[in-house]
Amino acid sequence: MRIEEDIKLSFKDVLIRPKRSILRSRSQVELSRKFIFKHSCISWSGIPIIASNMDTVGTFTMVKVLSKFEILTAIHKYYTIDQWINFIQSVSVQTLNYIMVSTGTSDSDFSKIKAILSLSDELKYICIDVANGYSEHFVSFLKKARDTFPNIIICAGNVVTGEMVEELILAGADIVKVGIGPGSVCTTRKKTGIGYPQLSAVIECADAAHGLGGRIISDGGCIVPGDLAKSFGGGADFVMLGGMLAGHEESEGSVLEKNGKKFMIFYGMSSDIAMKKYIGSIAKYRTSEGKIVLLPFRGSVVDTIKDILGGLRSSCTYVGAEYLKELTKRTTFIRVSEQENCIFNHQEMI
Ligand code: 5GP
Repeated sequence: MRIEEDIKLSFKDVLIRPKRSILRSRSQVELSRKFIFKHSCISWSGIPIIASNMDTVGTFTMVKVLSKFEILTAIHKYYTIDQWINFIQSVSVQTLNYIMVSTGTSDSDFSKIKAILSLSDELKYICIDVANGYSEHFVSFLKKARDTFPNIIICAGNVVTGEMVEELILAGADIVKVGIGPGSVCTTRKKTGIGYPQLSAVIECADAAHGLGGRIISDGGCIVPGDLAKSFGGGADFVMLGGMLAGHEESEGSVLEKNGKKFMIFYGMSSDIAMKKYIGSIAKYRTSEGKIVLLPFRGSVVDTIKDILGGLRSSCTYVGAEYLKELTKRTTFIRVSEQENCIFNHQEMI
């Protein structure tokens, strides 16, 4: 047994120190980034935010809206091939530029991802997603995917430590997804005791990835727009959002009415509800690692996205970053013991 004594941080432990800036307005900030990826050598431009591949976040309806903002959607893996065909026929080629196709690591997942990619040359990304990216089977699947799809941007995860980020990049990942346990509907830390504070995971993994020409996604744990700024400030190339984009019209979830108010169910992809829905039952040897929550229905995701992008632009002006790309080098984190003044938090909001 060993204990690491240095402090690991999450978003709530820090704020970003403001810096002198020549920017006069938030409108001068450019949030779009251009990447050329290590293995696939493909170039992609857009705002590096991704809707998570959860079944009430990463939906076909979501991508139709988010693509207009040049934001990516990781489409969940439960749509059938027929649904994919219908979807691809119903949208512009430009929309496909903002899609990540998610997959697990079974043989049938592999056949399905091949079939989906064969539907259009405009599909650029796959996201190989497992809860625990530390397994040898996962690394073998990634190598097989890289050999089979040399010209596809491959994202793989989740992991939280530099040495595993390096292994995944060397095995063929262009982008590594970082985060174990920070998610809004995740109970992994409680059920297993495993995890890593998200901001430190991002800082350490970004350093490892960038050293090899790879990229990272910070996945999970953002609860307010400022957390995206902290993720990018810590070195994340992309930020993936679940809960912040859940509970909207575009979630394809069912709306419930209770005492005249509208709600939508949101759940982790390892929750009882998700396992029963897609696997039929919970296997005897495993436990649920996800929560089920009832969210107040939030209408269209457009207002939420505008709020997030406005926050991010404002963060950039506070530190003088004209481009989102500059945010990391202009970020100094200060450790804090409080984030906001909570005096009126329990008051009725107008
Ligand atoms: P959020 O943005 O809601 O904080 O986090 C979203 C992320 O939580 C997802 O992208 C995914 O990585 C993770 N996640 C989704 N469902 C589950 C689950 O049931 N269990 C765990 N451990 N993580 C989950």
